[in-house]
This record gives sequence, C-alpha cells and structure tokens, in this order.
Amino acid sequence: MLYLALALLIFALFFFRKSSTQRKEAGLPGGRIIYTDTHGWGKVEKPLYYSALELTGKPDYLVQKNGTIIPVEVKSGRAPEAPYDSHIYQLASYCLLVEKTYGTRPPYGIIHYENRDFAIDYTHELETALIDLLVEMKRDEHKKDVPRSHEQAARCARCGYKNVCDQRLA
Ligand code: SF4
Repeated sequence: MLYLALALLIFALFFFRKSSTQRKEAGLPGGRIIYTDTHGWGKVEKPLYYSALELTGKPDYLVQKNGTIIPVEVKSGRAPEAPYDSHIYQLASYCLLVEKTYGTRPPYGIIHYENRDFAIDYTHELETALIDLLVEMKRDEHKKDVPRSHEQAARCARCGYKNVCDQRLA
C-alpha cells in the first residue's frame, strides 16, 4: 500500500513538473465533452498491474461498451476548461493497464468531473508520451534532487504538494 501511495505521489509530481512546451510537443489530446449514463459503470475492486513498466493503478470505474472496456476516473470539483495534463496522463495509464490486463485497447477513457465529463482519446501519440514519461520517472527515481522544470508561480500556488515541496515558487 505504501509502495502504491509513493508511486502515485511520484507520478503526480512528475506530471506537474512537465513543461507545457514538452506537453504540447507530446501531442496530448485536449478532451471531448461527452454525456454519460453512469448506470453501466462497474466499480473496480483491485488495482491493475503491468509488470513490464512496473505500473499499477485503479480506475474508479470500468465501462463495457461495444466489446471495449473504457476506464473512468472521477475527479471531485467542477471541471476546468480543459482537463489538466496530470489527469490526462493518469487516465492514459489506466487505458494502458486495461489493454495489458484485458487484451483490448480502449479507444478512449473518461474523466468525470462534478459538472462535466471529458472523453480523452487513447491515441498512439498519448501512449508514447506516457511511456516516455514513465521511463523518465524510472530514470530519476533514485535521484536525490530533481529540479523543478517550470517558472510558473501560479502553478505552484494551485499545486497539492506545495506544503511539502521545497522548490515551490508561491
Ligand atoms: S509546488 Fe511547484 S515546484 Fe513543487 S511540485 Fe508543485 S508545481 Fe512543482
């Protein structure tokens, strides 16, 4: 459990540290607003695991649709204009885990906010960006000091880790 929590923390820190330029170059999809019916959503009991990348995670729900399995991540609070990159990467990791676990590739995943749902296409570009990020995380995992990669005080002000981060700008 500690391992999982630690992995998620590191994961989140890396998501926030990627510069917007890097993210744009990675070609992350922006997300499509969709209307969903939550009746068919099934709770996920156990985390999914993919050993080749040492990746583990538990989507909030899985939806079976036309022979595919769509992961759903639920976020508290109202939706931003467009999903945060951290949320997109998290959902992409669930898409990857679903594909490796069930042998069927989700065409997209869903981020569910209080007032709006976004579909995020699980493109090959997004998959490649995710794998690059995971490899980078693995490489930096044991480094004592990994420098912040942005100069945006506003981002630090919104960051959930600002109280424990010694590199915060605000
Ligand atoms: S407080 Fe700022 S530097 Fe620290 S993790 Fe958050 S966004 Fe990055």
